[in-house]
Amino acid sequence: ATPAATMVGSTLSATNGVLFKGGDVLEQVRGIDTIVFDKTGTLTHGEMTLTDIEIIDADESTVTDGGEPAPDGGTLAEQAETDADDSPEAFLLGAAATAESGSEHPIARAVVDGADERDIALGEVSEFENVPGHGVSAETDRGRVLIGRRKLLEDEGIDTQPAEATLTELEREGKTAMAVAVDGQLRGVLAVADEVRESAKETVAALHDRGTETVMLTGDNERTAQAVAEQVGIPSENVRAEVLPEDKADHVEALQDEGNRVMMVGDGVNDAPALTTAQVGVAIGSGTDVAIESADVTLMRDDPADVLKAVRISEATISKVR
Ligand code: ADP
Ligand code: MG
Repeated sequence: ATPAATMVGSTLSATNGVLFKGGDVLEQVRGIDTIVFDKTGTLTHGEMTLTDIEIIDADESTVTDGGEPAPDGGTLAEQAETDADDSPEAFLLGAAATAESGSEHPIARAVVDGADERDIALGEVSEFENVPGHGVSAETDRGRVLIGRRKLLEDEGIDTQPAEATLTELEREGKTAMAVAVDGQLRGVLAVADEVRESAKETVAALHDRGTETVMLTGDNERTAQAVAEQVGIPSENVRAEVLPEDKADHVEALQDEGNRVMMVGDGVNDAPALTTAQVGVAIGSGTDVAIESADVTLMRDDPADVLKAVRISEATISKVR
């Protein structure tokens, strides 16, 4: 781009909440024909809420309602309190939240907040391991906790089949469901959900109208991804789910190798390599620093509609200068 183009571009962008890193970016944006969106934190707010706590009885392969007989003794009030603390749900959530207290992931925050809201105290963590794209593993005062995808548990020899029906049902609702094991035993399922950003659907529709392809790239499972894709209008065949953090960039590269000119929009640490690999990387303004540093464009208002604005700014700028 000429210096004049750069100037016009940055003037426009400043008032529109779209930040371009240099004038060359404007020209790159203009040639884009495919836009890849990360799901969590990009198409959705990334502010997850704990929605479900399900106890799985692995021995009987059934879901119980969690109603345990009350322990003997104590006043009625004391007993009620004991019941609340000792319910299988409280134990499950307490163990999970304790393990998640070491993680910064939006899922982890939702689990910790969920425990907090229910007055379930967090315990001590002596060992913590974050398994990117899979979950967490932690040694806690409630035992050794594993929380995350099926594979996280299965890699340690824990059968997740007793939880399968519950996991599947929650995922069909568009929720992210996690299996929880304590001391090598499958104990339950937790689900978190996130809301789609308001302008996501209209943005995708407007992009389709102008002939731009849309793709979703996510580490989340296929069913949840498809449910969200349907909500925002991304074609089912363009959903790439269960993509490991280190593989996101490969998917972008594959699309580019097929001759597409790709813009990647993301917010997370996971998205950084894909943002760098894409012809144009776009970061959500409230996203992680790493994402913003790796991107060519930053959307200051976290609004997917500003993706469209970025495209329009680049077109207006270049046609004005030429
Ligand atoms: P996304 O690409 O949607 O941001 P990630 O790659 O971070 O997702 O995670 C992929 C999947 O791994 C999640 O949907 C979840 O099932 C599991 N997972 C990741 N981090 C955690 C965590 N801290 N606790 C539980 N599960 C997790
Ligand atoms: Mg994300």
